Amino acid sequence: MVPRVGMTDLEALSVPFACIDDDGQADASRVVKKRAIRCALSRICGICGDTLNRPIAFLGPRSEADGNRFAFPPLHLSCARESAAARADAVGGHLGHVHADGAWLMVTTGGFDLIRPSRRGDPVWFSPNSVIEILEA
Ligand SMILES: [Zn+2]
Repeated sequence: MVPRVGMTDLEALSVPFACIDDDGQADASRVVKKRAIRCALSRICGICGDTLNRPIAFLGPRSEADGNRFAFPPLHLSCARESAAARADAVGGHLGHVHADGAWLMVTTGGFDLIRPSRRGDPVWFSPNSVIEILEA
C-alpha cells in the first residue's frame, strides 16, 4: 500500500478504507455500507481507496466465492495479495469479517455487479461477472 496525501492516521494503520466510517470509527470486522457503495460506484479499492485497475480482485471466505458474491468491495490485485498474506495474523476481524480463519479464496475478474439490498439495513454484495481466476488465498 502506497501512502497517499491526505491519508488519515487510521488508514495509515492499515484498517481498510471500506471499514472506516465518516466519523473516523474503524472496525476491520465490518464493512461500512456507504463506503462499500462508494467503492463500487467510483471504482475504487476497498483497502487503499485508490482507483481500481484490471484485473480486479475479490477476497473472502470460500462460501462467498462459491456463491459468487462477496461482502467486501473490489480490490487491487496487489492489495488483495497483501491482505491474504496478512490474514493469518489478523486480530479483531479481517476485511469486514469477524473471523479470518478457514479457507479463503481470491477471485480475479474483469468486472463486477453491485447487489443492493432489497430491505433497508441489509448489506450490499459484490458479484464478479467475468471471473478470470480463482486462487487459494
Ligand atoms: Zn488497493
